[in-house]
Amino acid sequence: MKTPQLFGTNGIRGIPNQDLTLDLATGIGRSIGTFFKSSRIAIARDTRISGDMFLFAVASGAMSTGSDIVYIGVLPTPGLQYYCRENHIPGIMITASHNPPQYNGIKAIDSDGTEIDEATEVKIEDIYENRKYKLADWDKIGRYSYDNTGIDLYMNSIITSVNSKTIAESNLRVAIDTGNGASYYTSPEILTRLNCHPVSLNANPDGKFSSRNSEPKPENLSDLISIMKTGKFSIGIAHDGDADRCVFIDEKGNFVDGDRSLALIVKHTVKRGDSVVTPVSSSDALSEICTEKGAKLILTRVGAPIVARAMIDNNVTIGGEENGGIIYGKHQYCRDGAMTMALMLDLLARENKPLSELLRDIPEYYMIKTSVPRKREWEEIKELITKKFTGKMFDFTDGIKIYDTDGWTLIRPSGTEKIVRVFSESRKQETAKEYNKEYETFLKNL
Ligand code: MG
Repeated sequence: MKTPQLFGTNGIRGIPNQDLTLDLATGIGRSIGTFFKSSRIAIARDTRISGDMFLFAVASGAMSTGSDIVYIGVLPTPGLQYYCRENHIPGIMITASHNPPQYNGIKAIDSDGTEIDEATEVKIEDIYENRKYKLADWDKIGRYSYDNTGIDLYMNSIITSVNSKTIAESNLRVAIDTGNGASYYTSPEILTRLNCHPVSLNANPDGKFSSRNSEPKPENLSDLISIMKTGKFSIGIAHDGDADRCVFIDEKGNFVDGDRSLALIVKHTVKRGDSVVTPVSSSDALSEICTEKGAKLILTRVGAPIVARAMIDNNVTIGGEENGGIIYGKHQYCRDGAMTMALMLDLLARENKPLSELLRDIPEYYMIKTSVPRKREWEEIKELITKKFTGKMFDFTDGIKIYDTDGWTLIRPSGTEKIVRVFSESRKQETAKEYNKEYETFLKNL
């Protein structure tokens, strides 16, 4: 199968006026317009400085093919996805997610609200590379309008997908760090409507991300962690730049790994006989919880759109990734930071116990993540690994997953850089390190 060249794992990314040019943006707008042949296309952006510039470039490109453009505002990527789904129209998101502020990007959304798949990306790239644009006659050129109803539509769906009354009555107090990103209005507002007395941090839209780095990792959340250590809050919440992800800090100020919050939400959401979808890179903590609950775990290739598609195909309600991106089908089939937040509040309200206490029921695993430069073709590397480690159990869902006595290692080539990623997991930190070192050394010596 041909793989997309411009579209990476999460859309097209680059630095404005360098690798992400206005010409490219306009061309991609034309290509998306030509591909979808839709009378209307929705568009939204995150808070980045170059947001308006790319929004107008991409919108102009799409309008030149005869599609009307509906701008729905600065809002999270899942907010646009929800609008697309409700209106059955495709969409374009201008965002570079958690990347540093100098970046921006373009992501295309299908009319069912899911991110377009790889096959569609290849088709759109082909239109762009070969200039197969279908431009409209002068009297058929698209128009531009603004619709401010998308934000409320999105927030209402989240609030009505959880037990909002139970949450409102539970007297939770929430600290939220939106990191100057696209959720600056929506997530604090959802918390207010759920009566969670939010204290907001970095809730001013600032395209330079002046307050903190956009990736919600512990080292970037020191302010939120300090606030949580005062002991005045039930839970701390943080999003990345476009708020398709959500991470948590417990009431004592401890960062909760995405794997553990996913396992916890699954534990309190699924029933016997249900299924859960996650990529092969996810922790065994999740598979243990699924076994305990009598639920089936479906493992896919890495990538949120792949997980979402598998959920739709198998009629599954919950799935997600270890980086804090949970997909909840009752709301919509895409990673959604605010939905993840609401699911966690729902379970805190129902269980009426502190987060740190609830997490004690989630098995603890250690994961070591490294990467090495890729010096040969992936197929060749794969063959060498299977030869060298013959006798071990392999899984080829995505890259190679090698099972050892006390854990596993996943080796896979990056889609965007010339590197090979090595993830090792075990119940013991030392063992995870040992496995990781063994495969890392082998790959380095190839
Ligand atoms: Mg993101």
